[in-house]
Amino acid sequence: MDYGAKLDAEIEARRDDLIALTQDLIRIPTLNPPGDCYLEICEYLRDRLATKGFDVQLVRAEGAIGDSDKYPRWNVVARREGAHSGECVHFNSHTDVVEVGRDWTYDPFGGELDDGKIYGRGACDMKGGLATSIIAAEVFVDLFPEFSGAVEISGTADEESGGYGGVAYLAEKGFFAPERVQHVIIPEPLNKDRICLGHRGVWWAELETFGEIAHGSMPFLGDCAVRHMGAVVHEMEQSLFPALAEKRTDMPVVPEGAKQSTLNINSMHGGMEEPEADYTGYPSACVPDSCRMVLDRRFLIEEDIKDVQAEIQSVLDKVKAERDTFRYDLREMHRVLPTMTEKDAPVVTTVAEAIQDIIGAPAEYVVSPGTYDQKHIDRIGKLKNCIAYGPGILDLAHKPDEYIGVEDMVDSAKVMARSLVKILLGHDEITVGEPKI
Ligand SMILES: [Zn+2]
Repeated sequence: MDYGAKLDAEIEARRDDLIALTQDLIRIPTLNPPGDCYLEICEYLRDRLATKGFDVQLVRAEGAIGDSDKYPRWNVVARREGAHSGECVHFNSHTDVVEVGRDWTYDPFGGELDDGKIYGRGACDMKGGLATSIIAAEVFVDLFPEFSGAVEISGTADEESGGYGGVAYLAEKGFFAPERVQHVIIPEPLNKDRICLGHRGVWWAELETFGEIAHGSMPFLGDCAVRHMGAVVHEMEQSLFPALAEKRTDMPVVPEGAKQSTLNINSMHGGMEEPEADYTGYPSACVPDSCRMVLDRRFLIEEDIKDVQAEIQSVLDKVKAERDTFRYDLREMHRVLPTMTEKDAPVVTTVAEAIQDIIGAPAEYVVSPGTYDQKHIDRIGKLKNCIAYGPGILDLAHKPDEYIGVEDMVDSAKVMARSLVKILLGHDEITVGEPKI
């Protein structure tokens, strides 16, 4: 039996284990915010992987954004050394999930298996991917204990809120340094036949316009900050949105609509604060003296962050030229530069070959419209050989009745295990004896 058939048979044999592991992970409600049960899920992963010969470290991102004694940001990193020195393949999954939201017909933390699908918040994004990478790694180390190099699996916090208490912290501590890790696969739900090379850039900013408070019956005595903001939105509609729609990227971004530059007005608030829920009176009559807007600008690898900022500045300059009392403050909140791993990077070519072997079709290369933890591995870790590859349908992420297909997980596990063989055994014409399990 060649190694491929052996791997596939062993993964098939562990299908029930894969299902049970996914269900267990879903049943730990790691909601973020606020960051519930992070220690619990890290301990669960530690207990599992320690019995498979992994050295396991629990790392709290002390002092990181979001970390507190009430909600500590725990991460787990497990490393299994091979029999010889060599390169390290690291699977990184985030353990946090987003809020449940409404309209579920399944228990969001029940992990129910129904007709080949496992349901729950985080099923596809991305506890299914985490479970898949664990099964792939366990099968690999069990069948090929003589491998060269190392396999690592991490479960990290806070990806859904920026990853600062997770991958960013680990990268700062050297966990993704090129001398420690050479290949990174992030099992986000991009589909079992797609390799995600990177993501667009992000620029978040808060814009505040100012006015002058006055009695609402005599608005001419004040200056309305909301009307100033209205002028900004109007100018955006006239000049900025059409200009962004014209910018197209050569990055293979999916879905198609995200191949252009985009801007979302994330929120806007003008005038007095919203009253408490138990306040039953009327508002008072005031001219708003402040209006705040949060901008979420996603940009392309062909664009420079300076130009992204200059476009907004130009909108503000135009409004200023037309409105005498226009005053504003523009504050950058957050930025992430676009990143894209080269198609001929070793991890890309390896996983592409494995997809061809298992799925029987060439891998599709995609780029994500939004960012994920690759940004920290790239920027802080300085590691360019990183992709997202994992089972599941991205469109289901964050939605009600999120699920992961068992068949997709099994296929993806085969792709991941083959990728480990190709990288850590050096060639793919290996025959094996009986598994040493
Ligand atoms: Zn995710």
